[in-house]
Amino acid sequence: MGYTPEMLELIKRVEKSRPERIERAKKGEHFTPLTLAGREEVLGKFHPDYKKEGRRAVKVGPSKGESYPDEFVDLLESKSRLLVDDAALQDLVAYETDVLVIGGGGAGTSAALLAAEHGAKVVLATKLRHGDANTVMAEGGIQGATQEVDSPYFHYLDVIGGGHFTNTPELVEALTHDAPLVIEWLERLGMMFDKNADGRLRVRHGGGTSRKRMHSAGDMTGSEIMRVLRDEARNRQDMITILEFSAAVEILKDTQGRCAGALFYNMETEEYFAIRAKATVVATGGYGRLHVQGFATTNHYGATADGLVIGYRAGVPLAFMHSTQYHPTGVAFPEQNIGLLITEKVRGLGANLLNINGEQFVFEREPRDVESACIIQECLDRNKGIITPTGRIGVWLDSPMIEVLEGPGAVKQELPAKYIQFMRYDIDISKVPMLVYPTLHYQNGGLQINNLTETGVPGLFGAGEASGGVHGENRLMGNSLLDITVFGRRAGRSAAEYVKGLENQSSTLTMDHVRQFHAELQAAGVETNRVSPLVLPNYTREETMEKQLTTHYQGGMR
Ligand SMILES: Cc1cc2nc3c(=O)[nH]c(=O)nc-3n(C[C@H](O)[C@H](O)[C@H](O)COP(=O)(O)OP(=O)(O)OC[C@H]3O[C@@H](n4cnc5c(N)ncnc54)[C@H](O)[C@@H]3O)c2cc1C
Repeated sequence: MGYTPEMLELIKRVEKSRPERIERAKKGEHFTPLTLAGREEVLGKFHPDYKKEGRRAVKVGPSKGESYPDEFVDLLESKSRLLVDDAALQDLVAYETDVLVIGGGGAGTSAALLAAEHGAKVVLATKLRHGDANTVMAEGGIQGATQEVDSPYFHYLDVIGGGHFTNTPELVEALTHDAPLVIEWLERLGMMFDKNADGRLRVRHGGGTSRKRMHSAGDMTGSEIMRVLRDEARNRQDMITILEFSAAVEILKDTQGRCAGALFYNMETEEYFAIRAKATVVATGGYGRLHVQGFATTNHYGATADGLVIGYRAGVPLAFMHSTQYHPTGVAFPEQNIGLLITEKVRGLGANLLNINGEQFVFEREPRDVESACIIQECLDRNKGIITPTGRIGVWLDSPMIEVLEGPGAVKQELPAKYIQFMRYDIDISKVPMLVYPTLHYQNGGLQINNLTETGVPGLFGAGEASGGVHGENRLMGNSLLDITVFGRRAGRSAAEYVKGLENQSSTLTMDHVRQFHAELQAAGVETNRVSPLVLPNYTREETMEKQLTTHYQGGMR
């Protein structure tokens, strides 16, 4: 298939400007970065978060009055999928454990490992297969100040600057302090980091980093992290039980208001069951599959904000959910790859972003939100984007430059997965550029936690992309893989310690908090027959949708 003749004609302009751009890159010259004021201006005018339309204030719950995307507020202002009276609830208990971890991505698996290491029996329950998660898709790298010229101090400053000085300082301190320890932990678990010829860890720059501290495993860093975490968890069967195809649909409490486990929907048998736990960690990841403002997404199929919805109903406030990260470089062509992430590493390796005339229009290492806003401006305001046969728009990312700057074969070596994904459609990215446009990538916010991952509801902890605060209003590349391992580990340890100190746990489970939430909806005048969490995206096939209906099912899909 490949590019159309019209697109190939336009690529000639890229090829024409390439030699001069390469000469400049070799001299260390680059496009002038924006000033702080320039960044603010382009963000205000073109970043989707700054649009007034498509968002509204939530009318109920602990963050009432805060304004979030409509797609997310719809889920918050919905009813429970299943409301069981307390007597019947006890009969649904299928498992009892010390620590329940909801979500089998990087944060959840790290939490399970550390909880087990601190003596807790763990059940890790996850919606799809263990490892079907955003973690496994992560490409570019994980940050950590492991080099002599670097320190957690510089890392801290970069994180805070990247987040527009809005981040929660105690979380950033934890993130950057634990980073070198986490890199060492992953290596001890068997992770194959990229290395230099002398055996030392290879590090690169990412957007917004003042020091080279991005560690990678080709362009499959997340997959490699997930490989070692999952292996390790599966090797601890004495302490960790793993349940797949089990979607949490509600947090359960005891009669003293403490978290006491969760209610689940078995996606294979289509039955509901409960897990009673002394402590629970929510690690359900992000919300890309809500396709906020119609954006394509990089996220995996299960990224539907479930943990946020059930945590919110249980009384946990949200932090930074007004802020969504659009990755600057999602695939805009071919159609089969739409929304797929092109890692920032491509720009880190020297590839320029170019408009329809083959001209540079932005410094390639601006923070992600600024970079995205600049691409949107170039396409929609200056009309200098490239239109695809289906009417999508994008700009060129000049990957063949990497072959010249890094040596022949560099594209295949550094970006093996991306190379294959494009070759399937007869596009050789070592020879022709990629067409890209911003794509919904990451939810900057989530459940509010402190540096021990406590949520404020006793016994309920949060970690990873489902939590918010550490990245403020903008996450820098490589800090999420770090976030999930740092706070996943902290959550596991905190939950296990909490269990040790727990006295007089009431054995009666209750969904009273859900009943109260329903009453609050009614009092706020929210008339709805919607139910949440979503569990699967709402473009799921009809038959799959129907499978979500059970005899217990209550709600709007009947
Ligand atoms: C394509 C891509 C590339 C990325 N590249 C990078 C990178 O290079 N560097 C970086 O730092 N970050 C990167 N990120 C971001 C990073 O990978 C994620 O933010 C991070 O891995 C999230 O980890 P997590 O464990 O919090 O969530 P996830 O890994 O998404 O795991 C959440 C798990 O919870 C499960 N779940 C969801 N709902 C329920 C429910 N109701 N019940 C039970 N289980 C549930 C999901 O199925 C999933 O298994 C990338 C993200 C994507 C999508």
